[in-house]
Amino acid sequence: MAGASACGGAGCGPHCSSSSSSGAGAEGDAPAERMGRLSMAAGASTTTCGKCDGGGAAVAVSGGAGMCGECFRAYLFGKFKLAVTSNAMVRPTDSVLLAFSGGPASRVALQFIHEMQSKAIQSWETSNSQALPAFGVGVAFVDESALLSRPEHESEMATEDIKSIVSSLSPGDKKVHVAPLEDVFSSGSEDKAAMLEVVGMINDETGRDDFVRCLLMLSLQKIALENGYTKIMLGTCASGIARHVLSATVKGQGYSLPADVQYVDTRWDVPVVLPLHDCLAQELSLLCELDSLKTQQLLDRPCSGINSLVASFVSRLRDENPSREHTILRTAQKLKPFSFNKFSANGYHDFLPSRLRPKFQNVDTNDTTFSEILCLICGSPFSESELQNLENTKHKAQIKIDLYTAHCCQSCHFQILPAATDMYEHFFSLLPKFWTEKVDTAVTASASHGSLRDRIEDYLLEEDDDGN
Ligand SMILES: [Zn+2]
Ligand SMILES: [Zn+2]
Repeated sequence: MAGASACGGAGCGPHCSSSSSSGAGAEGDAPAERMGRLSMAAGASTTTCGKCDGGGAAVAVSGGAGMCGECFRAYLFGKFKLAVTSNAMVRPTDSVLLAFSGGPASRVALQFIHEMQSKAIQSWETSNSQALPAFGVGVAFVDESALLSRPEHESEMATEDIKSIVSSLSPGDKKVHVAPLEDVFSSGSEDKAAMLEVVGMINDETGRDDFVRCLLMLSLQKIALENGYTKIMLGTCASGIARHVLSATVKGQGYSLPADVQYVDTRWDVPVVLPLHDCLAQELSLLCELDSLKTQQLLDRPCSGINSLVASFVSRLRDENPSREHTILRTAQKLKPFSFNKFSANGYHDFLPSRLRPKFQNVDTNDTTFSEILCLICGSPFSESELQNLENTKHKAQIKIDLYTAHCCQSCHFQILPAATDMYEHFFSLLPKFWTEKVDTAVTASASHGSLRDRIEDYLLEEDDDGN
């Protein structure tokens, strides 16, 4: 989802970035040769850095200009930092949960947020006032192995790897939370069986893939809520968002698409931020190579259905022209975002540089018309027709299942709900309670509202009383 939908939850992670890893055996080569081989734009003839004239071999980035390793690193960190500061993603009082998939994108996000945290700790220690503490960072890894029938010892090895990567980053204590995906079902020992059964009930291959992404986001939300994190940071990068733009278009999710292509997404209980929004997957893989950042690719879950078709389509576009992913992203960003795509609550701009404050204070008046009804499963905001359908159902619904289905967006209807309507009841009974309970409370609230009206009815003026 990332929203739930954008790139799933755990950061578009593996698929986002597995594209450009160089062959094994590169370790023994001279750094200069390695850089030469890693060049991204074929035909780039630059041999020296275009930024610092420092000499030495240059790596070519998608723009075409060659940069040395140092400058390339600074360039990527600059994009990350700009995204964080100009969108008020992290406040000093925050505790940030980084969704770590083990892939290059989330690995770079971990590295960069660690560096920002180290600087914040340093300046806090040296400042006299000690007014602003440094934000906290934790790392979450959601283990999908129940769905993948992977040997258990592989998962254990991968988890150990992740723990050792995180523990090598100091200062700043970072807790690692490893949670099996099935934990979101919270039905006790039956979790795994419930997850496999509900996933098995989804006939559509793409629907299954998207559903698992929704579970991932739910899992991250659960970890964050239970451990007091105030932000969830995903490693979703420009390439992942570009793929989401195309696949969402193909799936007919155009209305909710703008929600998924922004830097900030506050529609969830714990807001989600995407600081690698402007970095390409290839750039992030390249940085992992250059800086020898250890990644953990064992955990890749290949995407399937439409998502996989779109991924290979986008990679062909990129082979023709490396800037295509940026073009797709820029085009999608012309769509109007939703009100939940920025932090507008009081106090957010207190920590912003003054030149940026106006950006957050001007609340668009159209924003207030947003209905706040989100799809029960994927979290997509409801379109006009979906709202209409929900209203109609509310008036005539006799059974709860009708309300549940009316709380699912059209896309989830087609792709995720079982084809046979008599399966609905069983399907919804298996879903994580976190999802269905929201509808339950909404129903109870409106029911008690109704009875309140009944109780005070005698005191209410009736409209046609006026005339008499
Ligand atoms: Zn340079
Ligand atoms: Zn949905």
